[in-house]
Amino acid sequence: MGAGISPERYVQRLDRARAAVAASGAAGLLIGVGPELEWLTGYDAVGAERLNLLLIPAAGQPCYVSPRLEASAASAAPGLRGPGVAMATWEETDDPYRLAASLLPAVGGRLLLSDGLRAAFVLGLQEVLPAAEWGLASAVLAPLRRVKDPEEIALLRAAAEAADRAMERIISGPLVGRTEAAVARDVREALVDEGHDTAEFAIVAAGPNSASPHHEPSDRLIGVGEPLLLDIGGRRAGYHSDTTRTIWIGDTARNGPDAEFETIYRLTAEGQAAARAAVRPGVSFGSLDAAARDVIRAGGYGDAFIHRLGHGIGLEVHEEPYAVSGNAELTVPGNTFSCEPGIYLEGRYGVRIEDVVCCTSSGGETLNRSPRQLRVVAGR
Ligand code: ZN
Ligand code: ZN
Repeated sequence: MGAGISPERYVQRLDRARAAVAASGAAGLLIGVGPELEWLTGYDAVGAERLNLLLIPAAGQPCYVSPRLEASAASAAPGLRGPGVAMATWEETDDPYRLAASLLPAVGGRLLLSDGLRAAFVLGLQEVLPAAEWGLASAVLAPLRRVKDPEEIALLRAAAEAADRAMERIISGPLVGRTEAAVARDVREALVDEGHDTAEFAIVAAGPNSASPHHEPSDRLIGVGEPLLLDIGGRRAGYHSDTTRTIWIGDTARNGPDAEFETIYRLTAEGQAAARAAVRPGVSFGSLDAAARDVIRAGGYGDAFIHRLGHGIGLEVHEEPYAVSGNAELTVPGNTFSCEPGIYLEGRYGVRIEDVVCCTSSGGETLNRSPRQLRVVAGR
């Protein structure tokens, strides 16, 4: 889906991709169904066993290879509608690989494949292009895709706001005595009700389960006197939301958070705030991870922050750039990524706080706005 991205933007992206291929010395890009195709053309194709392939030669006109039965859907995509991309269709009994090879310049050279291209398609292409060398399209596309244009940032902001509304609905709703799985179903419904096209994930982790960062919601009942971690996200007009809040379920002074939970919550919140405050153009992604990690380490819980600070987000929920220790790549305006430190004490409980942040020319804009202080709710 390309709603929100103007058709001219797709023309620009194709031009920039072609220029980047030429500059890399490769002969062309071969892009199958997936986020790269969606970024280049707005075509969110079905992508099953039939070959769909966007060919972008370093010189010459791009061409889209489509099964005939999907050609009208392909032609309707904003980036494939105009005269800029030729359409080549194949019938059920044709060999789509020979068709693709016939459309490429005969010079050979290095061809860059979209990272998620099915192995069966790769082997089929290699058979008809025995002289070619092969590489990954991300080598030229990831540097373009990780700098979001204003339209993409607006879509990510709208997705974040929808996720915030869903989060608040869940936090204010009945929780106690219900299973994690039941609340996860509510999360999915709330994500769609609040404006996502699809719900993509709903981590609902109560009590000790909150110490497992990728916990799968289970039949465990949510109780009083324990934390609840909610990590939720969906897709809206192609772009993802991803936000985490950890709350405490309690309704009397006796079943409120204990001192250690308050400590790990405070350290996580301070670390997360430090990372977000450090966002500005020209700082390394590794240093953003360090901004949060230093706070948590100084508080004595460095060993319990067991994952990177965050990941890029856009058409994919996890994409480049990664805010991970050692990543020397520098931020530029238009980078969008999560800041999500956590502290996990196995067998007891965990905390994670996650927002999507956009690097702007003057600093960082946090796209999520739901409250970050420790909230104790009755959950009834
Ligand atoms: Zn998340
Ligand atoms: Zn995330």
